[in-house]
Amino acid sequence: MERVLVVDANARLKGRRLTTLDVIGSGPRIVTALLNYYGFDAELYPYERVIGDRDILNRFDVLAVSFMISDVKAVEKLINLWRKDRGKEGLVVLGGPGTLSVKALKLLDFDIAFLGEVEQVFNEFFAIRRYRSFKEIFEELQPQGQVPRGVAVKKKDMLLDGGVAPWAPRELLFKVIPDINGVKMYPFYWACRVYVEIVRGCSNFKRPLTTANGRSCNSCGLCLSQRLADRLRCPVGIPPGCGYCSVPLIHGYPKSRDRHSIVEEVRRLLDIGVTRIVLSAPDFLDYGRDLKTEEPLTDPCNPPPNIDAIEKLLKDLTSLENVVDGKASILVENVKACLVDDYVAEVLGRYLKGTAIYIGLESCSDKLLEAIGRPNTCRDVLEAIKLLSKHGIKPYVYLMHGLPLEKTDDIITTLNTIPMLQQLGVERIILYKFRPLPRTAFSKAKRRHDEEYLKFVELLKNRVKEFNEQMKQKLLNRIMDVIIASEYPRNRRYLVSYPLHHGPVVLIRASKRFIGCVARVRIVDVISDRMVMGTILYIKYRIVNPTTSL
Ligand code: SF4
Repeated sequence: MERVLVVDANARLKGRRLTTLDVIGSGPRIVTALLNYYGFDAELYPYERVIGDRDILNRFDVLAVSFMISDVKAVEKLINLWRKDRGKEGLVVLGGPGTLSVKALKLLDFDIAFLGEVEQVFNEFFAIRRYRSFKEIFEELQPQGQVPRGVAVKKKDMLLDGGVAPWAPRELLFKVIPDINGVKMYPFYWACRVYVEIVRGCSNFKRPLTTANGRSCNSCGLCLSQRLADRLRCPVGIPPGCGYCSVPLIHGYPKSRDRHSIVEEVRRLLDIGVTRIVLSAPDFLDYGRDLKTEEPLTDPCNPPPNIDAIEKLLKDLTSLENVVDGKASILVENVKACLVDDYVAEVLGRYLKGTAIYIGLESCSDKLLEAIGRPNTCRDVLEAIKLLSKHGIKPYVYLMHGLPLEKTDDIITTLNTIPMLQQLGVERIILYKFRPLPRTAFSKAKRRHDEEYLKFVELLKNRVKEFNEQMKQKLLNRIMDVIIASEYPRNRRYLVSYPLHHGPVVLIRASKRFIGCVARVRIVDVISDRMVMGTILYIKYRIVNPTTSL
């Protein structure tokens, strides 16, 4: 039986995570469970555990790394370490969003890479062709031969790329409960947000009006057709979805996971001490919506959400013992504005009151939103924010700058709308810089250099920073429950803690024996637009003992 070391290198950049240290994603856990299902002996480790421990590497036959494009340097270091002792013995397998970059594949010293979804490719290899090991696959894939879709192979420095994998059909998705044991390998996993996948794929099959390599929409109307299957294809070859995003292209339209499987995974995670569960989906409100249509769900706004399915799921999850006792929280990742109405917001508020929900706004210019393929207008998003706030949800909003079609006027419109976001109850704005992702409509977009435009980008950055700092000021004197996770690496007299329900990182000056505890704190100062200072009122209870937590 081949022993496979699955390493989560996502967001490790050059070898260290700089932000969102408290996130455990679902992808590497899914792959680990699938490999075990197909007869491998696979174990999951986070990057930082492996890079510091050669003994772990030596226990395995195959190194399988999941990474994002930004993590190439970290992956390179890991592969070098792996190859050092064993040379070409011991295969290197790559997966995750990073493999979509041909540049990354050319640079990295790997043997087999999986591009896009693995479910159908694994089924083909391990169930239909009955391969028992990656070694067998590698030996059969010849440089002069055909490489299956979804696979790339490197032999004698020649790269053979079979292209992105086909979208996995529903019957091959969610066959296994994602790995649970590996979660315990992450530092302070009991304080982390653990992502649980509930929907795969995105329902926005609208497209941008132009791509960055010169393709333009001819207004054929197919991607807005009433017949949902028509929307799958664009005659001029513009990839589906927002121009900057690869989700519809790589994962297709939404497919919802069975409720019982989700609840079982969450139950197992809570049993090992996880305290924060994030229900992960490109749009939470797509959950069960695909079951309302016979055709592929390629319309982001119609039919309306499947409230029955959503309510059953939330009811089951919020009835789990640790959630009822207030020792664990259920959080939702993203929603699309056009699916939020008063009733939907009321249902979300009923089960998720006091938690944050992220909404993609990206820009307040409707002209730009239309041009990049967004499914909503700015007004749709403002209305959704209003409704969610009214029902006790804390809306967090995404904005983006640097988009290829963005003009100075578009930024001015956004700047002018920010005061309204404040009035409507937005708690935080997350401003992203656009980065071209491979195989998307905007993959060939150039960096913006025009001075006037960049001046307004700076204004936007400053305004968002100011907004977030002002919102943090509103937290002063607020009392909240936090999980004390670790020492603060920049100043070891302080500890880092995370709010159980929602809110910024809270620094606390206290003894490190409190690591592993849930404490009630009062917010006493604002440190930055991302961080506040708290003081412990009292320790509520301990989650893990000090030796486990350090
Ligand atoms: S399918 Fe393509 S060409 Fe037709 S309207 Fe949509 S983006 Fe334009």
